[in-house]
Amino acid sequence: MMPGTIVERRADAVTVEATAPVDVRSLTGAERAVALYASDMPNGRRHHTNAQYTAWIVQGAKRLGRTEMRRLALYLRGWQVLNVNGLMTEQIQARHELRFPQRHRLVRAGQGSALTVSVDGMTKATLARNGKVGLDGDCPCKGTGGIMLWGDDPDASGEIMCPVHRRAEINAYRRTLLAAR
Ligand SMILES: [Zn+2]
Repeated sequence: MMPGTIVERRADAVTVEATAPVDVRSLTGAERAVALYASDMPNGRRHHTNAQYTAWIVQGAKRLGRTEMRRLALYLRGWQVLNVNGLMTEQIQARHELRFPQRHRLVRAGQGSALTVSVDGMTKATLARNGKVGLDGDCPCKGTGGIMLWGDDPDASGEIMCPVHRRAEINAYRRTLLAAR
C-alpha cells in the first residue's frame, strides 16, 4: 500500500469502506496545498517531516471531499497564474483572500505540498491534471485570449497571450524554447 493511504475498515463492516482511501500521489500540488490548509497542520515556522505532511494532506482531503478540494485547487492555481504574471484583478484577489484568509498558512501549505511532491512525486494521470487552472471571477482577457499591456516605451507595449486561456499554447512554446537550448 502506498504511504499515506488510509483505509478505514472495521471488522463488522468489511464489505463497504466508510471513506474512499486517499493516495497522496494522486493529488496535484495545489490539491495537496488546499488539503493542508484545511487540515490540523499547526501555524508557525516549524518544519515537519514528509510523513507528517502526508498525514495532514490525507486529513484535509477527507475533510474537504474530493469535489471541493479540486475546486479550491483550480482557483488557487488560477490565482497563482495571474499573480506570477502581474495580471491580478481586484475581484479575484478579494475572493482569494476570503477563501484563504491566512496568507502565511497558505504559504506553509504550499511548502508542505512541495516537499511531498519532491519526495513522493505524483501519478501520470495526476501530472496531466496538475497544470489546470480555474478562475473565480472574470479573466483579465475577458475571454478573448489576449491581454494588451502598455509600457512606458511604445516598443514595450503589446498584446500577450492570456496565461489562463492560452495556457496550452504557452506551455508548448516554452517546450520549444527549452528544446532549442
Ligand atoms: Zn483569459
